[in-house]
Amino acid sequence: MKDIRIQSGIGTRLSQLGRMTEAHYGFVNTPIYRGSTVLFKTLDDLEHMRARYVYGTAGTPTIESLESAWTAITGAAGTVLCPSGLGAVAIALMATLKHGDHLLMPDSVYLPSRSLCANLLERFGVETTFYDPLLGARLESLVRSNTSTIFLESPGSQTFEVQDVPGITEFAIKRGIKTIIDNTWATPLFFSAHEHGCDLSVEAGTKYLSGHSDLLLGLVSANAATWPALKKTAQSMAMLPGAEDCYLALRGMRSLHIRLKEAQSRGLEMAHWLQSQPEVLTILHPAFASCPGHELWRRDFKGSTGLFSIILRPGFTRQALAYMLDHLSIFGMGYSWGGFESLIIPFDCSAYRTATRWNPEGFCLRLQIGLEDIDDLRADLRAGLDRLSAPTRAA
Ligand SMILES: *Cc1c(COP(=O)(O)O)cnc(C)c1O
Repeated sequence: MKDIRIQSGIGTRLSQLGRMTEAHYGFVNTPIYRGSTVLFKTLDDLEHMRARYVYGTAGTPTIESLESAWTAITGAAGTVLCPSGLGAVAIALMATLKHGDHLLMPDSVYLPSRSLCANLLERFGVETTFYDPLLGARLESLVRSNTSTIFLESPGSQTFEVQDVPGITEFAIKRGIKTIIDNTWATPLFFSAHEHGCDLSVEAGTKYLSGHSDLLLGLVSANAATWPALKKTAQSMAMLPGAEDCYLALRGMRSLHIRLKEAQSRGLEMAHWLQSQPEVLTILHPAFASCPGHELWRRDFKGSTGLFSIILRPGFTRQALAYMLDHLSIFGMGYSWGGFESLIIPFDCSAYRTATRWNPEGFCLRLQIGLEDIDDLRADLRAGLDRLSAPTRAA
């Protein structure tokens, strides 16, 4: 496989990485390899595992193409693949934690990652403390003698607090504490996690890497010091994505930079427009000054993507919100994001936050801006906002 990580631009790298053209009779893409068994020629080869590939769970050309490409894109020492983004979070945590350890988790973390701490890690003897994502270097005051891992997610899920990643990794490195970041929103194209000192970086490939809402995938990349632990953990569990999903992720990867560029400009255009609508109180988008940690985004990130939140002015009823959302014609209501289609969901994290208080005055909505025409998206939302104040039909 070509290693072109140093000399080329991102478009060239996304186009060329992870290809084994010569091994596949000149065909451009690595095919879908399905397989458990690999046959050995001789007893001696079998006993010494002497073969390019030895068994399905130890890797196939399809898996290797995606892993090696991601390793080059993230500037990591190695990558493991998982069947979902949440699976990737779990494997990353299991690679750095052991019984008796203490874990620091941001209060703004993706909710299923939060649940994993109580539902799984606690049972294995790991204690979790949730922290204010805006603490930055002051997080050091929460470190205990048994703190082995600090998890970060920047910006935070739904509420978009941007974290001071270098401020945290600086003291973590000095104290020998491992850091894991969920980098799904920015992707390695807009935030280089390892350059900013993170040991492990998690990406839900389900989102922008797939780009088409048709697969589940997780990726964890590791720096050189953490790669052996990650590899050993992943190999022990052999939780691998299916070959088709790896193939689709590789296909998505080829156009990732183009789609992200579109996501960025469309996200900004829609957020600016929403800011000027009278029903909207606040924009929670890292590129906006109203977003907590905006200055850190300006300092550390290379771009923004198409997912952001808004807070509506107070005073609307739930019935009015339902009237707005139930009749949107382009924006769909559903979880996940990063696909070609626009989505909207209401959210409220006031019930489960423990280190911070989430107490907005109005309803909160998270928007994913897809590839539809902006005029149509604006018209759909404008009609929806009109319905907020329209007299609702009797139930
Ligand atoms: C969606 C998401 C995940 C989980 O990805 P799945 O593939 O849906 O399990 C993890 N982290 C963040 C920030 C996400 O948005």
